Amino acid sequence: MGTVSRPRVLLVDLDGTLYRSSKLFQDVRDRINDYITGVLGVPAEESNDVSGRLYRQYGLTVVGLMAEGYGVELDGWHKAVHGTLDYAELLPKNPPLKDLLDSLDMPKYIFTNADRIHAEVCLDHIGIRDCFVDIIAFDDIVEHVKKETGATGPELMKSVFCKPDARAFEYAMKRANAEAGSTMFLDDSTANIKGAKEVGLQTVLVGSKDLCEGADYAVENFLHLKDAAPSLWQ
Ligand SMILES: [Mg+2]
Repeated sequence: MGTVSRPRVLLVDLDGTLYRSSKLFQDVRDRINDYITGVLGVPAEESNDVSGRLYRQYGLTVVGLMAEGYGVELDGWHKAVHGTLDYAELLPKNPPLKDLLDSLDMPKYIFTNADRIHAEVCLDHIGIRDCFVDIIAFDDIVEHVKKETGATGPELMKSVFCKPDARAFEYAMKRANAEAGSTMFLDDSTANIKGAKEVGLQTVLVGSKDLCEGADYAVENFLHLKDAAPSLWQ
């Protein structure tokens, strides 16, 4: 990476980056669609389109539901979408991943668009919660925006942001006391990698061996990080 300085802080996405489980993703998608149909009364054949549109437009389905006045309340949403997932079966312990993270001698933060409880439960099941200084989650950004703007309800949700919005990266760096040029960001979303590069972070695309726009490195599996980016250990 030439003149780029060695990263001093790692910001690490959770879902799809530190574990991959197509079953868990499908279970989450099913629960989102069930919620949109059962709780909000959207016809079943439209729920997939509604959730897809809101996800693309707002970055998170739940933000779109709240911003558009569907009467969603965050706690109930998280309970319905994540509360009944069979984490124990879906997310086994991963000792090699823990060893790899522990061998990286720098502060590491989870930076996720998901909620904090989901992140904590996932990290506990994988056995890597202690590897991270803190979790920067969607709830934190909601609280932050609430404090800054005084907005509530749909107005608050219209002002909330998440990855790949530049403001989300700036918020995360502030929380981690980090500078863009010496922060390494790892994520499985090409949109998030592109957004991170636009604000000057160093980047690793996880889950693909091919680079995407904005990626400095690409690894198919997080466990291959040492081969792809040995400079992190130097
Ligand atoms: Mg992800």
